[in-house]
Amino acid sequence: MIHFKENFFVNIKIFFETLFQVKWLEKESYIYTLLPRPFKSKKDKKDLVYSIQKNLNKYHGFINDREEYIVYLTSLGTYGSYQKPNKIYTYMNRPAEEIAETIIHEIAHLKIEDGVIKNKLTHDEKEKMVQKTVDSLR
Ligand SMILES: [Zn+2]
Repeated sequence: MIHFKENFFVNIKIFFETLFQVKWLEKESYIYTLLPRPFKSKKDKKDLVYSIQKNLNKYHGFINDREEYIVYLTSLGTYGSYQKPNKIYTYMNRPAEEIAETIIHEIAHLKIEDGVIKNKLTHDEKEKMVQKTVDSLR
């Protein structure tokens, strides 16, 4: 089960997290924005969430019915990040299909994170493992 939320304070948190990581993000060639884009209307957001959910249906087996995830749609920051145990932050001014792919990517992170910490994997090793997981779903 995935719950979609949007929260002003979450946007502030993401703003500062992104700001503090700018050097590293640049080095790793991540795409990010610190400028909030024009805010979407309620209806646009509803339509977006509907389209994201439709795209997520493709990954039905991957998201267990007993698992709960909270997805925060942000108006700035990187395309996606995660926070244990079940929070995902994703930039919303993009096509629904792309956002759905980011959500799957971040869920894969959450699912392997305990193993990543236990085995002290590097950032690159971690991303490779996530990519492998996501590729296996196609
Ligand atoms: Zn990743």
